[in-house]
Amino acid sequence: MEENIPALSSAPTVTHCSACYVSVLSEDAFCNNCGYPLKGTEEEQANFKADLAVKEIDLLDYKEKIDKAGKRLYLTAGLLGLGTILDGIKLRGTPYLMAGIILDLIVCAAFIFLGAWSKRKPFAALVSGISLYGIVIILQVIDDPVNIIKGILIKIFIIACLIDGIKAAIAAEKIKKETHLT
Ligand SMILES: [Zn+2]
Repeated sequence: MEENIPALSSAPTVTHCSACYVSVLSEDAFCNNCGYPLKGTEEEQANFKADLAVKEIDLLDYKEKIDKAGKRLYLTAGLLGLGTILDGIKLRGTPYLMAGIILDLIVCAAFIFLGAWSKRKPFAALVSGISLYGIVIILQVIDDPVNIIKGILIKIFIIACLIDGIKAAIAAEKIKKETHLT
């Protein structure tokens, strides 16, 4: 049982894992894909399936949180875009106008990019998003300390959701690795 005997020598039959439905060999003790105890007792098999069902539900929950966090990145882009318009009015006729608008648009575009990227690489995108958002807030405060309390609820609303999304991305990755669920 210890060595991986090639299929030829014992001619095992191919069957299907009843947990994840991939092909397995009749001699396998565990499913290579999901770890289902193919030769386990009925109770072990039932426990495994119950556990897998729970993880599947958890994963859906995490995906929802990741999705929500991705949408917050778009919201951030939208709010910054709105800020750009307001800044444009405020800075009209000053030499900072163009520089201010260009910088705002770059940051705005970065959040849109991160929002889209969070669908494929949620952890990296959300960590980048929260870092960039932190930098934006620091710059706003340097510009005018009053900005720390301006829109504080929206800031908390965005940051809390991004943190939630990051935690969910870590947890989802762990489940995916353990179960091969996607
Ligand atoms: Zn399986």
